[in-house]
Amino acid sequence: MLPAIDHTHDPAARSWLPAGAGPTEAFPVQNLPFGVFTPAGDDVTPRIGVAIGQQVLDLARCTSAGVCDGLPRPLAEAMCSPQLNALLALTPAHWSALRHRLFALLVDGEDGWRAARESVRAALHPIASVHLHLPCTVGDYTDFYASIHHATNVGTMLRPDQPLLPNYRHLPIGYHGRASSVVVSGTPVRRPCGQTLAAGGDRPVFEPSRRLDYELEVGLVIGGANRLGESVPIAAALDRVFGMVLLNDWSARDVQAWEYQPLGPFLAKSFATSISPWVTTLESLAPCRVAAAARGPDGLALLPYLEDADDQAAGAFDVTLDVTLSSRAMRDHRQSPMRVSQSNLRDLYWTPAQLVAHHASNGCNLRPGDLLGTGTVSGPTPESRGCLLERTWRGSEPLPLTSGEQRRFLEDGDVVTLSAQWTSGAGGRFGACAGEVLAARG
Ligand code: CA
Repeated sequence: MLPAIDHTHDPAARSWLPAGAGPTEAFPVQNLPFGVFTPAGDDVTPRIGVAIGQQVLDLARCTSAGVCDGLPRPLAEAMCSPQLNALLALTPAHWSALRHRLFALLVDGEDGWRAARESVRAALHPIASVHLHLPCTVGDYTDFYASIHHATNVGTMLRPDQPLLPNYRHLPIGYHGRASSVVVSGTPVRRPCGQTLAAGGDRPVFEPSRRLDYELEVGLVIGGANRLGESVPIAAALDRVFGMVLLNDWSARDVQAWEYQPLGPFLAKSFATSISPWVTTLESLAPCRVAAAARGPDGLALLPYLEDADDQAAGAFDVTLDVTLSSRAMRDHRQSPMRVSQSNLRDLYWTPAQLVAHHASNGCNLRPGDLLGTGTVSGPTPESRGCLLERTWRGSEPLPLTSGEQRRFLEDGDVVTLSAQWTSGAGGRFGACAGEVLAARG
């Protein structure tokens, strides 16, 4: 089921809390993303928070203050957990009930909840003052390849005569990634060492990657569970998506080029994957739903387990995605970060529901906290290519930076920041996903 649009999406709704003037991390009352934080100067167990304006609402504190009384008991227990997994294990009905209560507590005009405002105020912390953690324990991380523009560009570099392999339009291509190295935004990323083969060389070397790249992706945060051996019908697949994060699938292209055949990516990807700290719920994204991208002029029929009329009509999401790069020199000279890619989630060839349905189609059990990356989200234009491999066409067309520098691939000291925003309904944004490249370990 696709979440419905209701009064919690009303663009006219305002919180009684000040919205905050910050340009980047102000969250309106229609958004309410979930994260996990530790208050400033506090070494207590992390707790779940919801972002509102420029503040974080402590859900455990709300529970103990009684302002969430009346919600189903499993919700109250999950809200006091130090990570999101227990909440993710519940159902869309639970998630929606919690969203509606939080909205009622925070929106201006719900006079029935006015008496709760003192308790709500006491449970707030400025976002800028808290330490944000990974929102959940990621049990399994899978990365797809759902952008046909990305697949075509990369395929053109590798196989000019046949950029898209015959399977591409029939199934979402993916591989199993590494969950242990998924890190939260703000965590520095050390340049990996790996085995590479220089062009024209006949012996590989082991050295720091010279072709470090970002990949602009969105991660689906899985909720609920299907038993081993059970599939997930596509019509129910979005019930299994609690929300979305931004995801940077850092990639060492030189390592990848040498190691990827015949089994696919391995050490070129597993050294780090960054995600944003805030999980934007699928329900908050309901106004962004749009028709799935056109499937090409050949009218290719999908196999029934991937075909759903509702999904084709409204299963894609109109969310603009940006990548900025800030070099050390740019920061030294107080220059603003430079946008290097801008694409849109709606351009994916495969919808989120198709990714989930395909993943479970063999009976693979998806568990709460599993992370499904979309793959690099590229669009049809050069500016919308979501990684440097495409932006610089394998390094052959260096990208000029505003500082006078240029980039073929990432340099040490570069800070890469992914952001996302939508304008439908009340509009909103994801939490940013940033990371600085550190020099390889000597
Ligand atoms: Ca990827």
